[in-house]
Amino acid sequence: MVYDLIIIGSGPAGLAAAIYAARARLSFLVLEKMPLSGGQILNTYEVENYPGIPTIGGFELGMKLREHAEHQGTEMIHIEVRHISLEEQGRIKVLYTDGKEYRARTVILAMGAKYRTLGIPGEKELTGMGVSYCATCDGAFFRGRKVAVAGGGDVAAEDALFLARGCEKVYLIHRRDQLRAAGVLQEKLRAAENVELVWNTEVTRVNGEEHVESIWTRKKDGTEQLLEVDGLFIAVGNLPQTELVAKLLQLDETGYIPAGENCVTELPGVFAAGDIRTKQLRQVVTAVADGANAVASVQEYLYKMI
Ligand code: NAP
Repeated sequence: MVYDLIIIGSGPAGLAAAIYAARARLSFLVLEKMPLSGGQILNTYEVENYPGIPTIGGFELGMKLREHAEHQGTEMIHIEVRHISLEEQGRIKVLYTDGKEYRARTVILAMGAKYRTLGIPGEKELTGMGVSYCATCDGAFFRGRKVAVAGGGDVAAEDALFLARGCEKVYLIHRRDQLRAAGVLQEKLRAAENVELVWNTEVTRVNGEEHVESIWTRKKDGTEQLLEVDGLFIAVGNLPQTELVAKLLQLDETGYIPAGENCVTELPGVFAAGDIRTKQLRQVVTAVADGANAVASVQEYLYKMI
């Protein structure tokens, strides 16, 4: 069978695309490598900027998006796409998974992004033993303890606030003297008595035998300090998951897929939606907008094909 569309990834962009594809009555399929849908919002404690929903847990929003897509008749298979090739002068895209091939006239790439690592000594060795990239997943293990968060964006600020609810002390360590995080989060951080902002500082090493015991930090002026903490939460941004298409498409210098609001890429019939494409603002609200726009572009492409 050749589908009209295959969507790779089921974060907000992929699920919004599925809702629009179902309503357009396209024959389509969603392929998701993870056991759950929702992408990065599954790791977000609360979402407060999705219009119409003043506050919702990230996990719950992910589940609701999936429910909505399924309610419209979305078929989803949890399997990883390993390779994509083109047939019939590019009119058919073949997606290879372990053991099965899927064919489609169009593909929406909605694989999102994954967390960036610091690449410092001890980070890899102690991951899962005090080093974590997900405060909402692992924060409960640090109740009553001292922890550090590295980063200065929305995720670092949200993580620090989330951890401050249960931890004795939270150091938020940022490499500059200004946070990138939204003003409302900065206000909350200033109001949190057990959060200490550590400016112009980078984490340079994680120490511990079987568990994190301390971290070394270095200020811009070269001053080094040993901080005794039981956990280090790393929230220093994301990397687009573009390995699958790195040979098919020209990526920008930071690894994102060049595509505008219509999600059209340089490859006819291949579209990029959500955090994976070049854009100014990566949020749930812009990801779902991409899902809708990408399907509109798919339809336009399919009309021209006939
Ligand atoms: P981000 O906004 O890219 O911020 C990454 C932070 O990590 C920056 O402060 C950056 O420092 C720092 N950083 C990067 N590399 C570093 C390194 N090697 N060492 C030390 N620090 C490093 O990433 P994010 O916070 O993960 O957020 C990702 C996207 O999701 C953003 O667009 C964000 O707005 C969005 N988001 C939105 C919400 C919301 O609206 N509720 C919630 C979560 C995430 P510099 O500032 O010096 O560059």
